[in-house]
Formats: sequence, structure tokens, C-alpha cells
Amino acid sequence: MNQKKLEPLPAGLLDRARAARRVLVLTGAGMSAESGVPTFRDESAGLWARYSPEAMATEEGWRADPELVWAWYLWRIGIVNSTSPNAGHEALARWAGLIGGNLALQSLEIVTQNIDDLHERAGSGVLAHLHGRLDRFHCIDCGLPGQPDLSMASSDPTLRVTPSSCESCGGDLRPSIVFFGEPLAEADIDASVAAAQQADLTLVVGTSSIVYPAAALPGVAMRSGSFVAEINPEPTDLDCDLHWCTTAAVGLPQLVDQLART
Ligand code: NAD
Ligand code: ZN
Repeated sequence: MNQKKLEPLPAGLLDRARAARRVLVLTGAGMSAESGVPTFRDESAGLWARYSPEAMATEEGWRADPELVWAWYLWRIGIVNSTSPNAGHEALARWAGLIGGNLALQSLEIVTQNIDDLHERAGSGVLAHLHGRLDRFHCIDCGLPGQPDLSMASSDPTLRVTPSSCESCGGDLRPSIVFFGEPLAEADIDASVAAAQQADLTLVVGTSSIVYPAAALPGVAMRSGSFVAEINPEPTDLDCDLHWCTTAAVGLPQLVDQLART
């Protein structure tokens, strides 16, 4: 990826962004890559290769070996907590701050597949965390929210740590992320589809666009008349109007700097 020559800001995208009233930004793991949060692909070279997604990201995997799986999530929580929003997250927050200024912009919604809180820490509101959040927890048995002991958040994913217990029923507190095989929150899907239907510009940033239903949102937007642009240093199979070969932390600040000068 580093060898790829990044492209300058396409004029066609700047024009669309200047004219857009409703913007939807759909983000994936690549959005946080320059903050140091590994993407799924990065992980496939490392942890996912050693531990199967079935073991680490399913309810069955949790119940089979809760200490192993909880330690793995504590490791991921430790990574996210040690990182900061990058210039791309910050640019999106600045862009939303331009509402009411010289642009036509009325709304900028962020829908993310990321389970980190880097958009929020940059100052953005997030319409939907489609795959849940790593900083929220609930009981695996009764579903009540709870706050586990995070003092063991560590850099060693091979530790075994006993999960904290639900105050109500004693079940394990697990992260409120969407495990494989679990449905996404209906309210999140509904809000995201509505935003896609209303957007006149949809930016797809740092996602391989292979995980559904998130990957269907750009198509919903396009069929509703939105211009769909992708920011990704690698080509993907996404059907879009414009692909900008750049990274989140390089491209988004360029775009928003230009918009701020409008
Ligand atoms: P993915 O790993 O499948 O794809 C990441 C995409 O980002 C790739 O297309 C890659 O080319 C691109 N990319 C890499 N660096 C980039 C950069 N600096 N700027 C812009 N693009 C860049 O990730 P996905 O599509 O989000 O799907 C994987 C699943 O894994 C999701 O469900 C997600 O919830 C989860 N995940 C989340 C995080 C996180 O919360 N930060 C991290 C890893 C995985
Ligand atoms: Zn419980």
C-alpha cells in the first residue's frame, strides 16, 4: 500500500462536496488505520491467522472459552485506548462544523463499521455504529448493560482473564459488538438506510465493502440519486462514481481545507 502513488484531490469531488446539502460518510477499518488500529486485513496477517474469527467473534466461541476471548478483547480495547483520532477523523468533524456557513451543507452523517470511538473523540456525532462498540458492554445471558473491570486491558492477547459478572444474573459481561451470526440493531440499519436515501453525496472511506449489510448502503444511496465517491488507497469492487486513491488521513483534510476556503 505504501508504494501506491496517492492522487491529488479530484476536482469532480470538490465540486460535488461544495454543492452537497446532505452528506453521508460511511467508514470502515481503513478510517482508523493511520491511528494505529489494525484493519481486518492487517489482522489476517497476525491475530486472525492465529485465532479463528469463529473462536473470537461468536457467542459459541465466547461460551467455549470465555477467559481466552475476553483477554483478546481486552487487548483490542488496550490498542484503541492507546490511539488517537487521526487527521481524517478530525477533518470530518471540521466539515460538520461548516454547516450554516458558505456551503449548501445542511447535514453530515457518519455511519461507521468501526467499533472504536475515534470519530467521537475527534468531536463528531455518529449516526450508527453498525457493528457495535468496544466501549459498551452487556450481559451475555440477560442482556443488561454493565461495566466490567478493564484494569487488565493489556498488550498481551495470550493472557487468560476471567470476565466480570453481571450484577443482575451473574452472567459474563461481553463487549457490545456484533458477533458473527448476530443481527445488526434494527434502529441502526433504519437510520443508515434513511441517511443513504437522503444523501446527495456519499463518501465511502476505508472499507473493503464486502461485509453486508453495510456494503449495501452505497448502492441504496446511488439508486436514490446520490453521487458516490470512494476514498481508499486500494481498488475495491464497490460500484461508485469516483474512486480517489488516497488515505483517510491524507485525503479528507485536503478536501475539507478546500471546502473551508469556499
Ligand atoms: P477491512 O479490513 O475489510 O478493509 C479495510 C479497507 O480499508 C481496505 O479496503 C483497505 O484498502 C482500506 N484502507 C487501509 N488503510 C487505509 C487508509 N489509511 N485510508 C483509507 N483506506 C484504507 O475493513 P472493513 O471493510 O471495515 O470490514 C472489516 C470488519 O472488521 C468490519 O466489520 C469492522 O467492524 C471490523 N474492524 C473494525 C476495526 C475498528 O473498529 N477500527 C478494526 C478492524 C476491523
Ligand atoms: Zn445478566
